[in-house]
Amino acid sequence: MNKTQEVKALLGELRLKSAREQLDDLLTTAIKEDTSCLEFLYQVLQKEVMARNANSKAKRLKQASFPYIKTLDEFDFGFQTSVSRRQIQQLMDMHWIEKAFNLLFLGPPGIGKTFLSISLGVQAVELGYHVSFITMDELIKTLKTEALSTRSKRKLKQIMTADLVIVDEVGFLPITRQEANLFFQLVSNLYMNTSVIVTSNKGFDEWPEFFGDPVITAAILDRLVHNSELFNMTGDSYRLHHRNTILGKTD
Ligand code: ADP
Ligand code: MG
Repeated sequence: MNKTQEVKALLGELRLKSAREQLDDLLTTAIKEDTSCLEFLYQVLQKEVMARNANSKAKRLKQASFPYIKTLDEFDFGFQTSVSRRQIQQLMDMHWIEKAFNLLFLGPPGIGKTFLSISLGVQAVELGYHVSFITMDELIKTLKTEALSTRSKRKLKQIMTADLVIVDEVGFLPITRQEANLFFQLVSNLYMNTSVIVTSNKGFDEWPEFFGDPVITAAILDRLVHNSELFNMTGDSYRLHHRNTILGKTD
């Protein structure tokens, strides 16, 4: 074995995979540019750290299970005026996650609640946080099958260890009292430890009807709202306003 092979073997043993893979290129450049020992060592370590960070971000992005990826610069604040760019921009530093604050986006369909939740979630992943996105419907199914399905068990473990959980579409489909109870238990477990973003097409006054019990509703709301920022959003549906037609515009 020559020296390069020996170094590669050592890097392999230390599990510095990217450094090992890029050693030849780095060596060639270092010889050509007469790089100092210290600079060369720096470059090798930097390649490894950069690759690790990129891998862990990709892994966290996959784990988050976003239905699609959206970023804030694609959001039209001219169309959606009930939240301001400044408000959302302030949240982009993710300090609220450090304090386990919740965000509640309420309002009618099509006004950008899911869009904003996803773009905040993507930024959280970007900054190193673990995020888990799930619709309320999926969440209830997952909670009900925890004992039977390893997939559900894994998803719930992910939710419990996340820094931010996004529960989308609370209030869309009716749920039973037993399901409301399962949701309450989850919210209780996350309370004060994990940030939650909730989107809902129902105002809080309609929640008791959705959860089927005023006491459970009060207990859920209590925990969600205690440390939270509430966005009561209004406006026209972006989908309806920007709908695509087959025949094109006639006017
Ligand atoms: P909601 O969750 O409130 O029902 P969505 O976030 O799903 O609404 O938005 C509906 C559709 O309209 C999505 O395709 C979304 O990308 C788009 N959309 C909504 N609001 C905006 C906006 N202000 N700027 C750009 N796209 C928007
Ligand atoms: Mg939505």
